[in-house]
Amino acid sequence: MPSFSSNESGALAEDEVARPSNFVRDLIIGDIQSGRFAGKVHTRFPPEPNGYLHIGHAKSICLNFGLALEFGGKCNLRFDDTNPCKEETEYVESIIEDVRWLGFDWEGRLFYASDYFDQLYEWAVQLTRQGQAYVCDLTAEQIREYRGTPSEPGRESPYRNRPVEENLNLLERMRAGEFPDGSRTLRSKIDMASPNFNMRDPVMYRILHAEHHRTGNKWCIYPMYDFAHGQSDSIEGITHSICTLEFEDHRPLYDWYLDKLGIHHPQQIEFDRLNLTNTVLSKRKLLTLVQKGYVSGWDDPRMPTLSGIRRRGYTPEAIRRFCNSIGVSKTNGVIEYSLLEHHLREDLNKRAARVMAVIDPLRLVIDNYPDDLVEEMEAVNNPEDAAMGTRRVPFSKVLLIERDDFREDPPKQYYRLSPGREVRLRYAYLVTCTHIVKDEATGEILEIHCTYDPATRGGNAPDGRKVKSTIHWVSASHALDFEARLYDTLFLDVNTGEENEAEDFTASLNPNSLQVRPSAKIEPSVQGAAPGARYQFERVGYFCVDRDSTPEKLVFNRTVQLRDTWAKIEKSQKAKS
Ligand code: ATP
Ligand code: MG
Repeated sequence: MPSFSSNESGALAEDEVARPSNFVRDLIIGDIQSGRFAGKVHTRFPPEPNGYLHIGHAKSICLNFGLALEFGGKCNLRFDDTNPCKEETEYVESIIEDVRWLGFDWEGRLFYASDYFDQLYEWAVQLTRQGQAYVCDLTAEQIREYRGTPSEPGRESPYRNRPVEENLNLLERMRAGEFPDGSRTLRSKIDMASPNFNMRDPVMYRILHAEHHRTGNKWCIYPMYDFAHGQSDSIEGITHSICTLEFEDHRPLYDWYLDKLGIHHPQQIEFDRLNLTNTVLSKRKLLTLVQKGYVSGWDDPRMPTLSGIRRRGYTPEAIRRFCNSIGVSKTNGVIEYSLLEHHLREDLNKRAARVMAVIDPLRLVIDNYPDDLVEEMEAVNNPEDAAMGTRRVPFSKVLLIERDDFREDPPKQYYRLSPGREVRLRYAYLVTCTHIVKDEATGEILEIHCTYDPATRGGNAPDGRKVKSTIHWVSASHALDFEARLYDTLFLDVNTGEENEAEDFTASLNPNSLQVRPSAKIEPSVQGAAPGARYQFERVGYFCVDRDSTPEKLVFNRTVQLRDTWAKIEKSQKAKS
């Protein structure tokens, strides 16, 4: 049975390399044309290894790697691992795997900001020697007090005018471990009256006796992100340092450091962060979901993490096309989750093999079908792709159909099976419902009885009579059991209050985001399907084999629903009435 799995990272198609126009791309084209940076393009994707990557990061990855590819440049992968307390090797490994899975290659240029700690320290000494940095003895709280407000200038630290020699001596002793955590900082001497808070003598180094995941106990002072980021770009010869809008106010500070140090000066360009409806894209919040057990882990298929949506069955191609389609701008907005699903469906429609599976089985007995006969019905694997061929599906007297495909009292416009009505069983025969068997006590429908027309093999009547509906089925004695995991959005709120930090974001978690159907049934052709294999369950949705699946117990994740036309009709009927 053909299927395609999620373990491969699909190569970029021709039409993905030429990206849609946007202002970042236009700026780069301008630089190439004017010969700035010798016409070179060198970007980087700089994650902080304090969580798993999410779909927002994919936007940044596609932008940075995509621009490098388009203009024959390079893109580095760099871990911004300046904070020793939060970073873990697990995150580093997952990030490497995720970027690779998305289909991008850093060609061996994998770097760590922590590799630059020696150089950064030398630069700190240089700025101190130049009288542009000083050791400050104010506590963190005092520094905040002195910083002023947006309307009032800050006050200068009483330590601001320490002689250079004293600063150099204290900095060296900070590094040597003579002082306790938080007792001193190294600050840049810029402008306490600047309207930009970032320029009011920002801290460059803090004392922190903490072990770092790469440098161990070598350091007990660590550079602030703002002192490390721009210089790391400079060291790597980055030409265009592309980051999200919240760093716009930090750009003057990065420029200041690079200028005072007199080193290579990349061009920083800020773009809008991706926000999606019905989910959160903040590593802190995602970590909370994991730690408090709202989800089973970073790769829970409901998570917007790349490992989560990969497990869910998303393809790298769909994610890249989504990222290309949303564009890049200078104002933050919120993108509909359904747009991501749209790109996924487009891709899966072309590539996923069709099979028949029943999520909520109801017995259908064909009374006039021979008891022991089993016919092999020929079924098309993918109507979008003839090369995927056909398969044979066993058909017999007792079938299972979707409970939802039968109504005892069919509402208007409901054309599926109901008493007296004839429908087509996909790839098989036309059948007519004769009667039903119910549980006397509960009224639950136990069994549907039909007769079939032997002249309609393949699904068409020789007399040309039409039926309005085709339903799918599996043969009860041949079907495999499986567990279906049906997912819905993680959050009920469309806008999850990402803006409002005071609000408890978990309050709008969807209690029904996961529904397990333990007794679903599927045609036997999927026997042996490996985790990651994707299918379209005809009329039901796209599914993939979960990594929890074993030969004894098949488990499928619902990747995305097909557009449910009946649900739409019902909705519009309700709206009208
Ligand atoms: P978070 O706020 O979730 O902690 P972050 O921005 O701190 O995210 P980083 O690891 O620093 O996460 O991000 C690496 C890169 O990805 C940065 O260049 C950042 O600007 C970009 N990025 C992060 N989130 C998004 C997003 N939602 N949309 C686009 N780019 C993003
Ligand atoms: Mg960050």
